[in-house]
Amino acid sequence: MHDVDVTVVGAGAVGLACAYEVAPLVKNLVILEKHAKPGTQISSRNSEVIHAGLYYPPDHLKTRLCIEGRRYLLDFCRQHQIPFALIGKLVVATNQQELQSIQNLMHNAINCGIEDLSMLSREEIKKLEPHIEGAGALSSPGTGIIDSHRLIKRLESLCLALGANMLYKTCLAGIDQTSRGFTCTVKAPDNTLYSFTSRVLINAAGLNSAHIAAIAGIDISAASYRLYPVKGEYFRVVSGKHRLVNSLIYPSPQRHLAGLGIHATKDLSGALRLGPNAFYVNELDYDVNPEHAGEFYESIHDIMPFLAKKDLVPDMAGVRPKLQAPGAPIRDFVVAHESSLGINGLVNLIGIESPGLTGCLAIGKMVCSLLRDAALI
Ligand SMILES: Cc1cc2nc3c(=O)[nH]c(=O)nc-3n(C[C@H](O)[C@H](O)[C@H](O)COP(=O)(O)OP(=O)(O)OC[C@H]3O[C@@H](n4cnc5c(N)ncnc54)[C@H](O)[C@@H]3O)c2cc1C
Repeated sequence: MHDVDVTVVGAGAVGLACAYEVAPLVKNLVILEKHAKPGTQISSRNSEVIHAGLYYPPDHLKTRLCIEGRRYLLDFCRQHQIPFALIGKLVVATNQQELQSIQNLMHNAINCGIEDLSMLSREEIKKLEPHIEGAGALSSPGTGIIDSHRLIKRLESLCLALGANMLYKTCLAGIDQTSRGFTCTVKAPDNTLYSFTSRVLINAAGLNSAHIAAIAGIDISAASYRLYPVKGEYFRVVSGKHRLVNSLIYPSPQRHLAGLGIHATKDLSGALRLGPNAFYVNELDYDVNPEHAGEFYESIHDIMPFLAKKDLVPDMAGVRPKLQAPGAPIRDFVVAHESSLGINGLVNLIGIESPGLTGCLAIGKMVCSLLRDAALI
């Protein structure tokens, strides 16, 4: 007998989505969250974009989970009154080389199965976005924005309604594998330690997920699970200039070979933000360096010439749980039942950076089917 059937580590979008999918299939499920409420980490420090899945190779989990996840997320938002808006996205090219780069992006996206894309001329851009300058743009009308905070709150309340036991201010500190599962040692809110047994452990600990894999007994270097945190800062556009942009504006991938590049996102209140930039960090902090305003301005002022540097004020920052070491090739999400490493019942979710918010419900369903295939639920 185990104390619980399933333990989920982390109450971010991914952990909650896993719990939401798995809870109806088991007698008891516990969610451990070291902070006082859900979604205070990566899940509340991002662009809140519902991605269409343009950027990743067709065979990547990132692509499949983004495309499926987007569909599930839109249905979920409609069913549960989560605010969202499909405001569309333009990936803007300013010269011949960048035009080639957005053509390549479009071909990749079509290979991935995305159907609603089109190339816009300068004149067509102006009709949609009179204040944006570009020689051409890739239009993705299926890209949108979501209120991530409402999503998290709703997932939390649905998990509670399904009988999940949410333990806040409770940190998973130790894992011992037993013959049929795990003994989990946790630090309670009063700092005391106690243990319970669980048949299944779902590691959705975000920036801490490689550490959780390590304390479960995995050699994270050998498994290539080491995480390299990459910070991303945002600046808010003031002076009323948020009204000059209607959709999400991204630069061509040619400019930012390693990521999506500093882009302009709107939120559901109509506010306009630029970001995120990307730099590797050793320590986690969420300060925004005001001196980085120049980098933001330079990166996008030819596409958004109405912006002045003084229109940019520091907003917030997030940190990506990247599997990719500096200079290394792009890595896919790790969504793995670790039976092949001899740890039956442990599901690791590691490197769940963007588009993890879009893909969270698809990740939950995938975890559910991995556990079903292994007859663990
Ligand atoms: C700058 C930035 C921009 C992004 N933009 C987008 C976007 O526009 N669209 C999109 O789809 N995705 C985006 N993403 C990605 C998306 O935000 C993440 O993929 C998603 O939020 C990850 O959720 P999570 O639940 O895995 O992690 P988290 O939300 O970080 O949740 C993990 C939780 O685990 C808890 N935890 C850790 N260790 C322990 C422990 N030992 N015991 C108990 N609890 C523990 C933490 O406290 C945390 O709450 C962005 C990410 C960043 C950083």
